[in-house]
Amino acid sequence: MKFDNIIIGGGLSGLTCGIKLAEQGRKCAIISSGQSAIHFFSGSFDLLGRVHGEEVVNPIESMASLAATHPYQRVGVDNISRLATEAPELLERAGLKFFGIATKNHFVLTPMGIMKPTWLTIDDFTPFENKNAFPWKKAAILNFSGFLDFHTLFIQDGLKKFNVESQIKNFAMKEFEAIRRNPSEMRSTNIAKVFDQGNALEEFAQKVNQLSEGFEVVILPAVFGLFTKNIATALKAKVNKPVVLLPAIPPSVPGIRSQILLRKRFEALGGTYFLGDNVKDGVIENNKLLAIFTNNHADIKLEADQFILASGSFYSKGIVATRDKLYEPILGLDIDGDTDNNKWLDSKFFNDQPYMHYGVKTDSNFRALRNGKTIENLYVAGSVLGGANALKEGSGAGISLLTSLHVAEQLLK
Ligand SMILES: Cc1cc2nc3c(=O)[nH]c(=O)nc-3n(C[C@H](O)[C@H](O)[C@H](O)COP(=O)(O)OP(=O)(O)OC[C@H]3O[C@@H](n4cnc5c(N)ncnc54)[C@H](O)[C@@H]3O)c2cc1C
Repeated sequence: MKFDNIIIGGGLSGLTCGIKLAEQGRKCAIISSGQSAIHFFSGSFDLLGRVHGEEVVNPIESMASLAATHPYQRVGVDNISRLATEAPELLERAGLKFFGIATKNHFVLTPMGIMKPTWLTIDDFTPFENKNAFPWKKAAILNFSGFLDFHTLFIQDGLKKFNVESQIKNFAMKEFEAIRRNPSEMRSTNIAKVFDQGNALEEFAQKVNQLSEGFEVVILPAVFGLFTKNIATALKAKVNKPVVLLPAIPPSVPGIRSQILLRKRFEALGGTYFLGDNVKDGVIENNKLLAIFTNNHADIKLEADQFILASGSFYSKGIVATRDKLYEPILGLDIDGDTDNNKWLDSKFFNDQPYMHYGVKTDSNFRALRNGKTIENLYVAGSVLGGANALKEGSGAGISLLTSLHVAEQLLK
């Protein structure tokens, strides 16, 4: 099988890279072995939340002080600024609307009751301008009886810091009885499926109105709309006061919806998405990747002019660490990281952990290196790249989205 471009990994970076290439007429395939980090989606994409421990107001401006090895610096801050305008437009063409701009962080309330700076917030969530104020003084925190993945007490505690008086109320409805009998079934995706079937919303909205009487705002877990955001919109229209949705423990319903919509957009543009297939190795000759092999395609070669590695970080096994070895498992690419395993970890858990900066080594054009030599047609994008502690600085989705769009641009030149 022959394509113009093959992308290894179908998370946020693989999908957005594939969409950009397919929009320009490239014949693309994405091969993805499993779930991606987007299944943990909190409802917001972060660009840059903190630099050297300080909270960032203007992410683009603050990028100037990042190390030269940081992915944003390597793409170039001017390019990042331009791509950060392009990214929400690309997402919107896939049916995903966001609030936010790259030159000013806004805030979202986390399930821990803390205001977190962020870049883009999905439009069924609530963005806040001021991190020190919650706009309402009396909040009803509502939850489904038996749903253990929504931590109402943390939210209540967090709201106290904003002098918000709140009450937690759990409620039952007959539509959820079947899944409530088994705690392992009472998960966000199963609740969302009940709403998606269209039966429960009217009664649910009535219940919310009843239980929130005397309160100014309702806080609910984000369990509405696996396939479309219309469920959340319809709910908000039926509830007689503002509704703030907060993420529950993963799997994330807006995350799964985002993944589905991005994949649909890619396929609508003619892309081929191989889900549940694992790239196991490839043929490299004269510093060019000629073909790859996957588990499901056995000895059938998948060939392309250019390849993109978007296989994620440790979580997705894009890079792997054993007790004494750090490696890229598909092609044995060079890794930007310490070979001495004593240097991987800082014994103080909350310090900047060195291993969080590790990733696949590339040249200045984001092409992978193997044994010190550039593989001319293999580009690297997303969280498999090293150079940043995305968790510490709040830049995970930003790096994945914007490096993937940058790499797509390199391929289209
Ligand atoms: C728990 C968690 C919470 C997060 N929260 C936030 C947040 O609140 N805000 C934010 O901005 N960012 C957050 N991030 C970071 C952000 O989600 C990620 O940086 C981003 O989604 C990574 O996208 P990616 O495409 O680079 O990698 P991934 O999403 O990891 O995707 C890589 C894909 O490659 C596939 N793959 C790997 N190896 C192979 C192979 N050999 N063959 C085929 N396929 C393969 C994997 O199955 C996976 O689907 C979070 C990340 C995690 C893990």
